[in-house]
Amino acid sequence: MSSTPNSMQSSNLPGFDPLMGQLEVLEPGIAMFHGFANVAFAYGRGEMIVVDTSSQLMGAMAVRAIREVSEEPFAFLVYTHGHGDHAFGTEAFITDALKRGHARPKIWAQADVAARFKRYALTRGWQRHINRLQFGGAFAADGLFGPNSFSYPDLVYRDEQFLDLVGEPVELHHAMGETDDATWVWMPTRRLAMVGDLIVSSMPNTGNPNKVQRYTLEWAQTLEAIAKLGPRYILPGHGPAYRGEQLCGEVLGETARAIRFIHDEVVRRLNAGEWPVDIIEADISIPADLAAKPYLRPIYGCSAFVVRDVIRRYAGWWSGEPSQMFPATRKERGDDIVAICGRDAIVAKARALKDAGQLRRALAVAEIALNANPSDHEAIGLNAEILEAMAAGERSFIARNFFAGAARQLRDRAAR
Ligand SMILES: [Zn+2]
Repeated sequence: MSSTPNSMQSSNLPGFDPLMGQLEVLEPGIAMFHGFANVAFAYGRGEMIVVDTSSQLMGAMAVRAIREVSEEPFAFLVYTHGHGDHAFGTEAFITDALKRGHARPKIWAQADVAARFKRYALTRGWQRHINRLQFGGAFAADGLFGPNSFSYPDLVYRDEQFLDLVGEPVELHHAMGETDDATWVWMPTRRLAMVGDLIVSSMPNTGNPNKVQRYTLEWAQTLEAIAKLGPRYILPGHGPAYRGEQLCGEVLGETARAIRFIHDEVVRRLNAGEWPVDIIEADISIPADLAAKPYLRPIYGCSAFVVRDVIRRYAGWWSGEPSQMFPATRKERGDDIVAICGRDAIVAKARALKDAGQLRRALAVAEIALNANPSDHEAIGLNAEILEAMAAGERSFIARNFFAGAARQLRDRAAR
């Protein structure tokens, strides 16, 4: 399958998967459909296990691709976690099974997936809002959180679960990583690990700016545990598959080392009495040998986000800046600084910083003028320009889309 639907061609999607939209057979019986999120499956014994069902948008594509290599019934559908790009394509699998006269497949997941679905239903508007921004409009408005999104698991487990696939053992293991409800699937006979978003061909996405708490330390521990088993294949949640014991061991071990490095450095600083704001300003990054690894590029998550995740896990919401305990409003701060130096000097300074390529500083100054007067057209345009420049130079897909989205909102406001 080589076609890519229009909605997947958005330049906003991360460019980490050259096989996007295609089926890859790693060896007979082990294959993966590369969607935005991947669908891994193992077959050849008369029945099939499918790990993740992709999104509402991509589920039917995944089924069509799978059916090019196997007609076997789906014995099990396993969710690696309850995110919409992994667990919302299920309807297409059920429909296919019933159409073929097969038994309805059993949907397995870790017990906390159901609580996640309930939270998504409770906060549907917020989920739509942030996902539309995060994915740069690549998903249709209702593509992730529409009214029929949730196919609840039929069967759940807490810590580990052993399944039987026509006599072949399959292990489900609970992990805390990108989510609290994660499952990684181990098929010992094939030495195959299907790991969901524990591996995504990028710096792990711990510390996503708009999502709930993630679990950096447990994530590293899980990758180390998988490495100990000596997998020959890793089928990840996004991006290319890894094959060969040596490469699999390296990807697992070095990814664990990278996030452990940041975790330990943040904890050391917290224990030394540093405030969150001090730790953020320290700009902690991973050692150069790790930063050079293709599977640790900061194209989805990035070091700065991991730092935030670890701080949030162990500390409260306060940055440590006295002015931020009960902060003055942005309008008050903007008015006060404008009163001191004048609006024109602020706009001129922001523009000079932008022209010098100091984009973070330029934005911080430009925001003052905008906060003082939210209908100042020049300030709106300048903020948008700076954000567009930041988006153009940003490697993290998530940060890039938020910058571009913020710029778009300002341009819309200026046009009104
Ligand atoms: Zn995902």
